[in-house]
Amino acid sequence: MNSCALVVAIALTEPSNRPMIELVLLRFDGMTEEGAQMGGIPETPRKRSRWVVPLVILAVVVVAGLTLVAIGVLMALKSSTVQGIVKEAPVIAECETRLKTLGAALNRYEVSHGEYPPSLESLYPEYLDSRRPFQCPADHRKLSSGESSYSYTRPGKRVSDSAVISRCRRHVAGKGLPPFVILLRKDGSVSGVFEAPQGSR
Ligand SMILES: [Zn+2]
Repeated sequence: MNSCALVVAIALTEPSNRPMIELVLLRFDGMTEEGAQMGGIPETPRKRSRWVVPLVILAVVVVAGLTLVAIGVLMALKSSTVQGIVKEAPVIAECETRLKTLGAALNRYEVSHGEYPPSLESLYPEYLDSRRPFQCPADHRKLSSGESSYSYTRPGKRVSDSAVISRCRRHVAGKGLPPFVILLRKDGSVSGVFEAPQGSR
């Protein structure tokens, strides 16, 4: 029974009950349920409010489910590349530190001798108090005397400050990526670049 029919029914059966009819009319005009109930209208079934709690629970479950799915997708995307870069970052940082140490020692040598040493080994022990900087932390071999993880190109006198004099090729940040090569330049600066294996700049 809709509100119009209800009004008519009440008007017909209870013609003297004006306040109730007015309240029903008010309600028909959009008055809130609470307001109508305050006015004494018999309680109507609160179907909508009965659905609120299950809907909220359903929404929470759906949101939680989507969150779990999103986490799962992110975990799946955490491929070898991402893991590789995250895992390799501290090793690369330490490698750069060692190359910087080498660069400083090479430049001290150059200041003393007027030229760069013929090999990295020439730096030890006068310009380096340890062989540690000869080895990249990603290189787990046991190096013998005269060996280094790093290549070295002795710079001539006319070589520019930005010339690469040493490099480390022992870092691979992820499958399918070219090696992450750490470069030491003549001015002692260090930088990392993804470089094709055959590249020899
Ligand atoms: Zn290295």
